[in-house]
Amino acid sequence: MVKGIFVLEKLTSEKIQKLVDLGAGAIFVNYQHLNKDVAAKLRQEGIKVYIEVGIFVGEELWQEYPDARPVARNGRPMEKIDWYVGVCPNHPQVRKEKLALIKRIAKTGIADGVWLDFIRYPGHWEEVRNAKMPEYCFCQNCQRKFAHDVGGAVEGERWITWKCQQIADFVARAKEIIKTIDNSIQLGIFSVPWREEDYDGAIRKIIGQDFRQLAPFVDIFSPMVYQKMTGHNEAWIGKIVRYMDKVTRKPVLPIIQTENKPGKLSPAEFEDELIFAYQKPSQGSIVFFWEDLQKDQAKLQALRHFWQELS
Ligand SMILES: [Zn+2]
Repeated sequence: MVKGIFVLEKLTSEKIQKLVDLGAGAIFVNYQHLNKDVAAKLRQEGIKVYIEVGIFVGEELWQEYPDARPVARNGRPMEKIDWYVGVCPNHPQVRKEKLALIKRIAKTGIADGVWLDFIRYPGHWEEVRNAKMPEYCFCQNCQRKFAHDVGGAVEGERWITWKCQQIADFVARAKEIIKTIDNSIQLGIFSVPWREEDYDGAIRKIIGQDFRQLAPFVDIFSPMVYQKMTGHNEAWIGKIVRYMDKVTRKPVLPIIQTENKPGKLSPAEFEDELIFAYQKPSQGSIVFFWEDLQKDQAKLQALRHFWQELS
């Protein structure tokens, strides 16, 4: 079982020692917070290294490419939501640059896996409680490409299928690139934790993630089962894991929240999250995130104990 933890900030020697003491078996970290020396040290300690890459996200992309800013059906450009800045998934330059980045990461030889994040159409899904949500993207790039590929009205099943295809095509390209460099590097995705029946089919219609379509290119699916943040409960984690297993027939490695968001997430509640996250057919779990755990010794203790009991 994977004993994974997401590290949000830069890795230091001191942090690595603490991760060893905690019993972590795998760390997930952004490529910017890792270098060869740190990766080598983690390897020495028997900790696997998985690199997270944000794809269709980031304010710097809006600045560099103003036409990468998503456009709603009514023609209005997307606004920033809290920290979240979505990017049009069909911007040619963005796609090209992100694929080049994936290639560079795979070539460093320090990654056991590459996990794609924000590999989807824009949407602040954590806040969604009903099917009323804005749909993207109706920018000129998207309209032109759809007219060329399919044609017809930008709505209905043909439009939705095409949207999902754009996301799947990117993942397929990423898989191809990684495979050519080193076939042992795993490709994972952080997926939105919605089922087909949730919010009137929004997982395909709004998010553009069609799990059946993605499955051939993805080695491991990591649904972001942040139960408290999304207004669910601990048992829901298990439901989503089983659903993803059934639909994709691929390994599932859920990522769970530690943060008091919204309101207190008690150590007992966190332990329940771990219990449901590690239930079969799960491959283990990724705890999100390390820096937050440092604020609550009781939760840290609960995780150390839980992991000890596993082995
Ligand atoms: Zn667009």
